[in-house]
Amino acid sequence: MSQTAVFTIPLTIIPMITDSRFECNICGKLFKKRGELTRHLNVVAKYNSLHSDLDTLPENTIHQFKVILVHYIRKRLPKEYRQLGKQTVSIPTTESQFYAVFKNHIHYYSVTKDIYKCIFCGDSSNQVLSNILEMQG
Ligand SMILES: [Zn+2]
Repeated sequence: MSQTAVFTIPLTIIPMITDSRFECNICGKLFKKRGELTRHLNVVAKYNSLHSDLDTLPENTIHQFKVILVHYIRKRLPKEYRQLGKQTVSIPTTESQFYAVFKNHIHYYSVTKDIYKCIFCGDSSNQVLSNILEMQG
């Protein structure tokens, strides 16, 4: 007759990195090396700091632009957009206006195409966007 002893061992689970890829948690891009991800994030940081040459807009101009943006986004996005997954809203604007509002949230910039992209994802994205645009309700 064999006895079964049951031991309780405090267990620490160390996540094994089986996937050797590094992911940008904003745009989801995958990189093979940490260095490549770091470089990507450095480039992104540059998009948000390079444009000291742009006009500084008066506060109320920025505010008015935000009001227009909120209106535009609400018109373009259906109410239930959160269930619809990724949504893209393209907004024609001047570079100064866009930069004034979305600085620090710019994730992609193309000089040749003159396109800026901001990516908002995850649970807090709605709140972040609301804060940027000073949305009420
Ligand atoms: Zn990214």
